[in-house]
Amino acid sequence: MDDGLMSQVSVAAPPVGFVASEKSLCNELEVSAEHCDRTGQILVVSDDRALPLALDLVQRMPRLRLRADPGAWRHGDATPDHPLADVDNLFGIAGWYEQHFPVGGPVDGYTPSKFLRATDRPARQALLEQTADLPPNIITRIAIEATVLEAVRRDDFLDDLAAHQGRKFSFIFADKKDPIAEYQRIEGLRQVLGEHPGSEVDHVDPLIAADALASGASWAGVGASSARRMPRRPGDKGGPNSAGYLPGLFLEELLELRSPMIYADWYANSRSPYCATCVRPLDVFEPTTTDKAVIIGHNLHQTTAHIASLVAQAPEARAAWLREVRLEAHARHMQLNPLGDMVLNRGLHRFLELDDPQMRSMSRAGAWK
Ligand SMILES: [Zn+2]
Repeated sequence: MDDGLMSQVSVAAPPVGFVASEKSLCNELEVSAEHCDRTGQILVVSDDRALPLALDLVQRMPRLRLRADPGAWRHGDATPDHPLADVDNLFGIAGWYEQHFPVGGPVDGYTPSKFLRATDRPARQALLEQTADLPPNIITRIAIEATVLEAVRRDDFLDDLAAHQGRKFSFIFADKKDPIAEYQRIEGLRQVLGEHPGSEVDHVDPLIAADALASGASWAGVGASSARRMPRRPGDKGGPNSAGYLPGLFLEELLELRSPMIYADWYANSRSPYCATCVRPLDVFEPTTTDKAVIIGHNLHQTTAHIASLVAQAPEARAAWLREVRLEAHARHMQLNPLGDMVLNRGLHRFLELDDPQMRSMSRAGAWK
């Protein structure tokens, strides 16, 4: 069923791509498209105008591997009667696919899934039923509250998915803030992917992407900016885009995603982190459109390199390799942190505690208790 998608997967590109929107002050869509056009990685356009934007990109970059996600899930909840958007007409779901994503067209797509609340099993089951028979260029989008990964809800979720064993799902886990960086949610994600290997997760950060790929995911889509790394539920209000601020920069040596202004503070008494690809120190940027785009571009190439190192390991060795990499990042963090006041990346913090053989806990700054 997935042959159409699988046959397009390049052997050279690592199984990570990017999710970008036009609604960004950092030019993230264009920067991401140029990156993916060079590398052969997949770009997901996640935007209310995803399809026209994607068609415009592919006209200019014919080799670009694109998926369009107009994101009905961002705007309303699925119900048992209406789990999908835009299919309540004479032509139904088949007509929707034919109109927007004809097989053999230049852009792949997702089912027009509405958002699933964690407790609404009938809506979830209806969505799974109605998307059981898809054209090869469409993946089943499961955009759902991240609380569904927690122990109290997880078994119901796994039961509903198990009725569709063998299908490929594309998961988005959303919450008001930082959806997956909690112990039970990380564990739940590992279990979901373990039971549905070959599925995907996107709208995540590089740390979650790496863990998902070590847990059985076939592909992960990392957000090109924070709104695409931490998807919200319909109705959740976020902070305004602050024009003066710099986007988070992925610093692989610390497994951090912070504003370069924070790094400037952290590295005040050490040698600045430096990127040989960007040919510049990573703690000195101006809040200009140009510099913001450089940060986005750095994140794309650094994330790609990080995931390439991960998948260079044998599949059964990847989880252990990641644990080691996290411990090294943590050690560097602690070296920079003599006063014990540098808050550790929340995701890294949770991974370290979850995987600690002694089951210790740590302070927010990363000190083992
Ligand atoms: Zn760089």
